[in-house]
Amino acid sequence: MADPILSVERLKKHFPTKLGLVKAVDGISLSVAAGETIGLVGESGSGKTTVAQCIVGIYPPTDGEIRFRGQPISRELRKRSKDLKREIRIVFQDPGSSLNPKRTISQILSVPLKVHRNARGRSRTAMIRNLLEMVELPPDEYLHKYPQSIGGGEKQMVAIARALATSPSFVVLDEPTSALDVSVQAKIINLLLELQTKLSLTYLFITHDLSLMRNVATRVAIMYLGKICEVAPTVEFFRNPLHPYTKMLLSSIPVVSEEEKALKPAKILSRGEIPSPVNVPPGCSFHLRCPMKMEICSEADPEMVEVEPDHLARCHLLSRRS
Ligand code: SF4
Repeated sequence: MADPILSVERLKKHFPTKLGLVKAVDGISLSVAAGETIGLVGESGSGKTTVAQCIVGIYPPTDGEIRFRGQPISRELRKRSKDLKREIRIVFQDPGSSLNPKRTISQILSVPLKVHRNARGRSRTAMIRNLLEMVELPPDEYLHKYPQSIGGGEKQMVAIARALATSPSFVVLDEPTSALDVSVQAKIINLLLELQTKLSLTYLFITHDLSLMRNVATRVAIMYLGKICEVAPTVEFFRNPLHPYTKMLLSSIPVVSEEEKALKPAKILSRGEIPSPVNVPPGCSFHLRCPMKMEICSEADPEMVEVEPDHLARCHLLSRRS
């Protein structure tokens, strides 16, 4: 891979709670190349959103390192670097709660323009109009509306415009369509893809919807209980899934074409639910649900191995193969 724009090395985020230590993210490493969309996929409780929150600075990591353009992002750097806040932006899952209901759309968009681009007066108004046009909302119609008077899809378009207001290069999309009606999901996805091409954006796309990643991501990474268990370029990922958990997820998603049908693994029934991250099982964290489990699986945590070029997975079956 060319020099990554963002890389995460052995990132951990643990939360002490009354019930014990929650290991939400437990030592993940991941690199993202400029211009790509990496889909970080997992069930609820897998830790994918915590990874996003560490990257944008909502949580400081417990351990490990995040680098942006080769430079480690420390807590201090994040506090003082306006550039970093301008370059790395996030679009949240629920646009309803991420937009201030007391402000008009024009006021909402003016905040990042004032803070990060020092835009004032007419130039700021022109930028706001331009941002609305970019997300396909006619400015004259939307400038003076409040979030509660527009639909969920339109709110998400405003949230995307707000993220783009600082001219970022890296955008974290935290389940940007999962709170929306199915009828508008495709519209938002198409808009995000068009904007990516037009503005040379890099996306980290957090989702539980693996089938969506087939047409959106350039690479797919699967998270399970705070760890990445498989990562591969999208075509290779769907053609040759390796990890039993990935196969389980793929066996349950709907397919539309004959080609997809031919590649779909035989149905693997899910055994139980993802365990609590307070109580991560020893050995391979997937062993309580894995149909391929062996004796070693409950004793030793498998290492991540590169099975094919750029195709890595963490499973004792694969370590034995290599
Ligand atoms: Fe299953 Fe063992 Fe592989 Fe874990 S290491 S996924 S339990 S076969």
